[in-house]
Amino acid sequence: MLDQLGLAETLAQQCFACRQTVNYDKDGNESPGRGWSFMENMKDTMWSFALVLRQKYQEEIFRRALKKEGVELEAPWELKSIEVLQDVNAGGYKVLASLTNPSTGAKRTVKCRYLIGADGGRSSVRQMMNIPFDGSSSPDKWVRVDGVIETNLPKPRTYCAIESPTHGNVLWAALDHGATRIGYAFTAERQKAYEVFDEEAAVKEAIASVKPFSLKFKQVDWWTLYVVGQRIARNFFVNDCIFLAGDACHTHSSGAAQGMNTGMHDAVNLGWKLSLVLQGLAVPDLLHTYESERLPNVHKLINYDKDISRLMTMQLPENWQGDPNADMNEVLGQVMAEAATFSSGLGIYYEPDTYLNLAQSSNICSVRPGERAPDVSLQKPATFEPTRLQTATPNIAEFYIVVFAGDAALTKPLLSAFTSSVPQSHWLFDSKYPVSWLSIFDGPGGPSAYETLGGMPFGRVFYDADHSAHERYGVRPDNGAILVLRPDGWVGTVIELGLGGKAALEKYFQRFLVLDAEPKL
Ligand SMILES: Cc1cc2nc3c(=O)[nH]c(=O)nc-3n(C[C@H](O)[C@H](O)[C@H](O)COP(=O)(O)OP(=O)(O)OC[C@H]3O[C@@H](n4cnc5c(N)ncnc54)[C@H](O)[C@@H]3O)c2cc1C
Repeated sequence: MLDQLGLAETLAQQCFACRQTVNYDKDGNESPGRGWSFMENMKDTMWSFALVLRQKYQEEIFRRALKKEGVELEAPWELKSIEVLQDVNAGGYKVLASLTNPSTGAKRTVKCRYLIGADGGRSSVRQMMNIPFDGSSSPDKWVRVDGVIETNLPKPRTYCAIESPTHGNVLWAALDHGATRIGYAFTAERQKAYEVFDEEAAVKEAIASVKPFSLKFKQVDWWTLYVVGQRIARNFFVNDCIFLAGDACHTHSSGAAQGMNTGMHDAVNLGWKLSLVLQGLAVPDLLHTYESERLPNVHKLINYDKDISRLMTMQLPENWQGDPNADMNEVLGQVMAEAATFSSGLGIYYEPDTYLNLAQSSNICSVRPGERAPDVSLQKPATFEPTRLQTATPNIAEFYIVVFAGDAALTKPLLSAFTSSVPQSHWLFDSKYPVSWLSIFDGPGGPSAYETLGGMPFGRVFYDADHSAHERYGVRPDNGAILVLRPDGWVGTVIELGLGGKAALEKYFQRFLVLDAEPKL
């Protein structure tokens, strides 16, 4: 997602790209196949590693990118109250937000069409809108300490788990800028030893948690002690104008490192929808899909997190049906492996519906509407430079109609039927609408895309020189297929190549695009 937003490269410049994991048992012996080992099996992406970069560095990169777009964070201003104007229709200026600047005492009222509560786990927006935050906190406390260390642990620059008999499944994570994070469960038993739990105590317990290995902090950058719990807001969108995103609508442990990731999924899901509605290019109803898509995925995350956080503190999952004497570290590895594609984000999908993730055909493509479109290698025409589908489809609040043209010699009749009918829908080619085209030919590139096709191809042309793109998408070279990719990179619909393609495209877009739109922004 961040790649398609043009942010990933800058993150990669500063990150620790972690490709190696290791698991040690309580005696310090390596025990392969447990702990974080699932991270070594991430496939189907260029980004097949954990991009580790602490949040303060990431936020700086995001702020700089926002500034380039003319957006600046006015952090001193605090939201004090919200009034929703009930007599204003959905999509109108329904919100009055009262703000105060605590350092100057200045007050301001902002009238707006939408308000996003991205204001963290104690969200004042959630509280002002009386949205229940369902869930509970556990008695478990976890500690995280970041710093520069010395150790005799054999593989310190990895994502590592240590099966401690006293501190749960200990996290040892190589971080950016040469730092390391140690994370451990701080049990009620060990809490008794401390009247005050300060940095010195956090470090002392960290040293105890990684035994039998040695650990010395040359520098402590940051530490925290926090209570683990799982909560989810009952609604992510209320009154047709107020959204919740990030920790404001879901909090959980940091066990699977998913908090910020999930917040980013929220933001990426909502961003393009809001952009199109604000520009007058999509109907306000589209915004309801934010909750219907994100809420079930957050429920899934919360369920995984309940199991993972219990196992990390050496308790079997609630309602555990298996062997009561099961090895909890082994079960933890299994649960994390099961959640792997969800945690990497590549397996996050939205249920097919009758609106945005529209199933219109079967057996012509193995990737379904509602699934993330896999990244594939492509070849540019003329220079034959390698590129990728995600590079060719940046997230700029625009849909991409991707014509998998198959082997043009075999699909010529289908292509001709499609190319002769679809230009009648002029708006599909009008740059004022958020739709653009790509054509991918199966096979190595020739001197001229026009000649390969026997006419002008749609949009930018790419070649699938080694057939891997058609294979990954399960598209037959003699059949082809048309995929509509949503701006966020998920598949919107899959359509048969041929005469019916025009009607199927119209059917899809007419549900939410405003086709007589005059863009407002
Ligand atoms: C120890 C630890 C480790 C973690 N590790 C990971 C990890 O490895 N990977 C991962 O993905 N996530 C991780 N997370 C989770 C991640 O930090 C959070 O999910 C993320 O910070 C949430 O971002 P947010 O923007 O939703 O909320 P926040 O970061 O809490 O930001 C909310 C902002 O809103 C502001 N605000 C609040 N109220 C108001 C108001 N009334 N008016 C104006 N502004 C207001 C706050 O000042 C704050 O700046 C970890 C969390 C912890 C505690």
